[in-house]
Amino acid sequence: MNHAKLLIVEDESRLAANLRRGLEELGAEVTIAPGAKAAAAAIDRAGFEAIVLDLQLPDGDGLDLLRALRARGVAIPVLILTARGALEERVAGLEAGADDYLAKPFAFAELAARIRALIRRGRMPPAAPIRVADLEFDPIRRRLRGGDGEIPLSPKEQMLVELLMRNAGAPVARDAISDVLCGPGYNEFTNVIEVFINRLREKIDRARSAPLIVTVRGVGYMMRAD
Ligand code: CA
Repeated sequence: MNHAKLLIVEDESRLAANLRRGLEELGAEVTIAPGAKAAAAAIDRAGFEAIVLDLQLPDGDGLDLLRALRARGVAIPVLILTARGALEERVAGLEAGADDYLAKPFAFAELAARIRALIRRGRMPPAAPIRVADLEFDPIRRRLRGGDGEIPLSPKEQMLVELLMRNAGAPVARDAISDVLCGPGYNEFTNVIEVFINRLREKIDRARSAPLIVTVRGVGYMMRAD
């Protein structure tokens, strides 16, 4: 975990100690806060990269602490730990500003994997432009530029080109394309995917001797990485 500074907010001392040991073995620097007040004080002092937050704390509700942090503009990724596994709890946690959720009991390996993902997300530069060949897509302004300047795209075409560019060099399955274009569960046997792929090809590949968007038979489509 490359010296990532983690805060574990957990009042069960044995669990907290076990988490600390495991995470330190993976290279993290771990601080334990046994309650909401201690957590708030620790967060003000140190630059944590991720917080593991138990919801039932002796001096308050973890969700209240989370809401207060987010209201103050603290954007550190938070993974909620709770014995309450119900869906509504999970929804409440995410609405309060949590980034992930794990119900007790959990496997340490799963917690570690999720923390790693949170740290990785936090370390990524905020929405850097994606470049493939002479194309550059700005994921914030939603603009695509090519050799001759801006290439106007509809919102769906923007989503499709972003998906293909982010995966450049690797095939993108039809399911993933239809999820992006139509939402999950859409019937993939319609030709919606082809319609949008063809529009995109018309805009970015028409003048090229070697097209960037290639068909991967039996899988879907791929944008060549070079
Ligand atoms: Ca607790």
